[in-house]
Amino acid sequence: MSEKKERYLVTSALPYANGPLHIGHMAGAYLPADVFVRYLRMRGEDVVFVGGTDEHGVPITLTAEREGKSPREVVDHWYAHMKETFERFGVSFDNFSRTSTPLHAENTQTFYEKLKEGGYVSEAESKQMYSPTEGRFLPDRYVEGTCPVCGYKEARGDQCDNCGSWYEAFELLEPHSKITGGPVEVRETTHLYLDLPKFTDRLKEWVGSQEHWRDSVRNFVLGMIGGGLERRPITRDIKWGVPVPEPGFEDKRFYVWFDAPIGYVSSTMEWAQNVGEPDRWREYWQEEDTRLVHFIGKDNTVFHAVVWPAMLMGVGEGGDEPYVLPYDVAANEFMNLEVVVDGEPRAMQMSTSRNLAVWLHEALDQFPADLLRFYLASILPETGDVVFSWREFGSRVNSDLIGTLGNYVNRTLSFTEKYFDGTLPRPDGLTDEAREAFEDFKEMEARYERRMYAQRPRDAFGELLAMGRRANRFFDAAAPWKSRKEDPEAARGALYACSVLLGSIAYHATPFVPEAIKNLQGFFDGPIARVSDLEPLPEAYGVSGAKPLFRKVEDGEVEAAEEKLANAARG
Ligand SMILES: [Zn+2]
Repeated sequence: MSEKKERYLVTSALPYANGPLHIGHMAGAYLPADVFVRYLRMRGEDVVFVGGTDEHGVPITLTAEREGKSPREVVDHWYAHMKETFERFGVSFDNFSRTSTPLHAENTQTFYEKLKEGGYVSEAESKQMYSPTEGRFLPDRYVEGTCPVCGYKEARGDQCDNCGSWYEAFELLEPHSKITGGPVEVRETTHLYLDLPKFTDRLKEWVGSQEHWRDSVRNFVLGMIGGGLERRPITRDIKWGVPVPEPGFEDKRFYVWFDAPIGYVSSTMEWAQNVGEPDRWREYWQEEDTRLVHFIGKDNTVFHAVVWPAMLMGVGEGGDEPYVLPYDVAANEFMNLEVVVDGEPRAMQMSTSRNLAVWLHEALDQFPADLLRFYLASILPETGDVVFSWREFGSRVNSDLIGTLGNYVNRTLSFTEKYFDGTLPRPDGLTDEAREAFEDFKEMEARYERRMYAQRPRDAFGELLAMGRRANRFFDAAAPWKSRKEDPEAARGALYACSVLLGSIAYHATPFVPEAIKNLQGFFDGPIARVSDLEPLPEAYGVSGAKPLFRKVEDGEVEAAEEKLANAARG
């Protein structure tokens, strides 16, 4: 299936640059994308992986006002923090950009102009909350009041956290500014709108034919289109964001949902400039055989599977520069946390405001990235919500990673080093057992590849563990600890076959635990390759100075991590 090389452009959702990354972010949009991309690169595919921070919108300005800083100060700080954290976790972006660059502003305005030329933008009046004392319109999240449905007193401008109702801010009772507490009133304001209904037929036909999409995503989108699409405002009364190139809109900016996905294009343009071929971004966005894959959390589905494709259809319509549409929108479910309070484990939703989260930079201070990547890969929320548990982290690392994979690597290498001078020449022939193990591996390798190409890294991960178990079975049956005395040549031949399997395990482990496999290459002399690709088998394998690839997770570490969460949950 990988005979015909494809061109891939892979993106991960742009996180708001207003706080640290947590493990839920990783499981939703970054680890699965990174694992996928690393495998594509190993298969020799043409792939570019872009990301960046989302630096506009109300979440940024709210953080800035709360902390008495400028939005610029907030995003500069968190951009640097996030970039570093992604690097520590091993997310291998080809480019990590940010949406506050001049290039992105210009690109967003170009998108806007083209959509306008195509007749997809209209102007309309709407009602908006205005603060006379602050002299400005207030976005929804700046307004608080009493819920019109349940009477909850601290309801947000667009949604009640108590009963979950959605409404317009002007429906709130006793509305007031969240910043000053002062009164607010309703005023008319003019905004630009994207005419989403004009794309209804094309979207329906397009989504309907995406049979390889996850059912949850496809059904959600078809349901939404069936329910009727509405015009969406693309501007806001706010001063932080991309300026709107229209007279009368000097005090407004583009709505963050409008400019954020364009950030994928801007990041690709920046990448092209950095590699010295400024026009090359077009290959990935405008040549129709590109496979564009977006990894996101499910709360972003509507933007990536409905609104963004509509924007791409509208912008590319001129004919000279059509844009590709997403090949897949890999929307992942949520990750909850297991919190143990008074000995009772229970699953709780993460809450960044209550500090009830596992912050990635803190977890990385404690554990190597590979251990965290390994455990998260085993519970990726591909088909349903999942629960992150520190206890399970400890047991999965100690039993699956160290007990199954690490142990196999260790005993193969240490036997080779200790009893055969670290050298294993190719035997004259293979035993039936070795041939059988190789055949089994070839099948698992093919399954792993199918799952990986279908953007199902968790299923591919399952194949990796199966390879580890199969290899251990082969080792146990060959029993080199016995045969090395009775028939040393047979033992040497068996260890040679073990090394072939080890090379395949290392190959398939690379996307998940890249650092460990890099270390392995420092003392394992042999191809890190699929059994399917070894023709002929290598002349020899060698090993010198082998060390354990992974470290154990201690009970005390698990308890300390659990305690931290329990404290946050107690408030
Ligand atoms: Zn309510």
